[in-house]
Amino acid sequence: MRRIGKHISIAGGLVRALERAHDLGCTSLQIFSRNPRGWATSPLTDEDAEAFREARVALDLDPVVIHVNYLVNLAAPDPFIRERSIAAFRDELGRAERLGADYLVVHPGSARGAGVAAGISACVDGIRVAARGLRLDRSAVLIENTAGQGDCIGRAFEQIGEIIARCESDVPIGMCLDTAHTFAAGYPIHTEGGFRKTMRGLDSAVGHEKVRAIHFNDSKAPFASNVDRHWHIGLGEIGEAALRRLARFRRLAHAAILLETPQDDVHTETWNLNRLRAVAGLPERPEVGSSSA
Ligand SMILES: [Zn+2]
Ligand SMILES: [Zn+2]
Repeated sequence: MRRIGKHISIAGGLVRALERAHDLGCTSLQIFSRNPRGWATSPLTDEDAEAFREARVALDLDPVVIHVNYLVNLAAPDPFIRERSIAAFRDELGRAERLGADYLVVHPGSARGAGVAAGISACVDGIRVAARGLRLDRSAVLIENTAGQGDCIGRAFEQIGEIIARCESDVPIGMCLDTAHTFAAGYPIHTEGGFRKTMRGLDSAVGHEKVRAIHFNDSKAPFASNVDRHWHIGLGEIGEAALRRLARFRRLAHAAILLETPQDDVHTETWNLNRLRAVAGLPERPEVGSSSA
């Protein structure tokens, strides 16, 4: 059965995030393993790591995906930011491996005016340097495609494919496909013909088998706007029919589907998960905490 889930807050602790995912009926999840917007980390104890590894098995959550903290910019030309980013990414790789996470998702970064080619080279080099000497038996890096905002690299599948090709002899690596970013970057997945063409382009630039996770989001931002604005499933510019096409696309059936949608009183976590289940052809579930009596 297709593995689905969503990004879950780690407020209350890492094991609590696993329990919340399980309560929501998820079979996979994404978390931050640390504060996503600061450089400082609190250390991960062996006891915490072991409790996490045991709980994810007990709750049948697979794959477990960690998203790298937002300050990391492996493509940065500035030596100070670059050094900090590589150190922080190395720390994230170590934490992912100790937690037994399957995937560590990272954005390629922003070249900040240095140009795409320099940004890609810096990103490749950063990943390889960060991983040097680390034993990665469990965790693989996934490069996420971006909306192409500002100087961010990774809007084109060819750029993701190049980063993967230049890292894979040293680091286990694949891709995370974000639907909202794909659409905002100018891939017309909202039409049937555009979807087929986009999937062919993805296969030739990266390879469908390298896509290990899908960030499944509708887009509040218009087509080809290069604006990254996730929206409720079926209520955005991509739309339900197009998201159904992707969720049922057989060549990506191996990839876990994870929501990164916003939530409000009406469009709750359960609401969006049920929209995902509906388009993926999975049975829906009642609201968590709602009385069935
Ligand atoms: Zn992301
Ligand atoms: Zn994403």
